[in-house]
Amino acid sequence: MFKIDEYLSLLRSEKLKRAVRIQSEIIHHSRNFLKQKGFIEILPVIISPITDPLTDYRIRGEIECYGFKYQITKSMIFHKQISLLSVPRIFSFSPNVRIEPASRERSGRHLIEFVQLDIEMKEAGRDEIMQLGEGLLAHIVENIKANCEPDLEFFHRDLKIPEQPFKKISYQEALRRYGTDYEIELSKRAAEPIWILDFPIEGREFYDREYSDQSGILVDMDLIYPEGYGEALSGGEREYQYEKIKKRIEMKEIGLKAYEIYLKFAEKGLFPSAGFGIGIERLTRYICGLSHIEETRMFAKLPGVLGL
Ligand code: AMP
Ligand code: MG
Repeated sequence: MFKIDEYLSLLRSEKLKRAVRIQSEIIHHSRNFLKQKGFIEILPVIISPITDPLTDYRIRGEIECYGFKYQITKSMIFHKQISLLSVPRIFSFSPNVRIEPASRERSGRHLIEFVQLDIEMKEAGRDEIMQLGEGLLAHIVENIKANCEPDLEFFHRDLKIPEQPFKKISYQEALRRYGTDYEIELSKRAAEPIWILDFPIEGREFYDREYSDQSGILVDMDLIYPEGYGEALSGGEREYQYEKIKKRIEMKEIGLKAYEIYLKFAEKGLFPSAGFGIGIERLTRYICGLSHIEETRMFAKLPGVLGL
């Protein structure tokens, strides 16, 4: 059932008004930063025959048009890689739909429809794309501090511009120190954003590049917000060679057929690249210091709940 009274009180709240205003500034300053670095904004893809497999999501958002099957975008990862055949640096504010388990309703971090600022850079390595991510976050915080002081005061938020370069820890070391809850444990203890590097192949999708000299380890990364806000972004260097991509898809047992079109592009030749996607609602939550992601945007849709 749709809870109209709860919805109206959220819409009329000072909290939502200010969060949405900050969010608008986040979008504006992200755009400025990326444009200054020579990135071109491309329009988002909403439906396509191919989307991120995200193999842990069992429900697929699918629609049929003219007898063809389209997937609702879970991420634009493949479209980003393919766009680089045209322009070398791209970004998009990309709406993603992921039918998260209903048990995540109160996680504070999960929506079933959210927007990723998705970025990809031709012939970049992981270090270069991490530097870009650090610069982007620092630029956003700096500008929000300069332009949204009354809003930050309202949220009692005393943000610090993060110091670059950010600290780094390997996945193995994070697991050894903090156990399987490493993401949240690390985030709670951190006073500044921190990178987690080199995830094992089993836990990730098929498109992050495997080290050529370390089997089973990927040249990828997550950025973790401090103060318990958890994961900010995921990214890495990408597989771009046909045979390797094929092998990785086969390892996942998802069937080559589903990625036939993508594989055709890989066969014709993709470029090496690196990139990442940063969730706009989670970023808004961190900047405003909000306890729940529901308060970060208009029309937030929580897992298991009817949203607008
Ligand atoms: P992923 O590629 O799955 O790591 O997603 C990229 C980024 O999108 C994450 O680092 C989050 O910032 C954001 N994100 C992923 N899933 C959700 C979700 N269910 N709700 C809100 N943001 C999300
Ligand atoms: Mg991730």
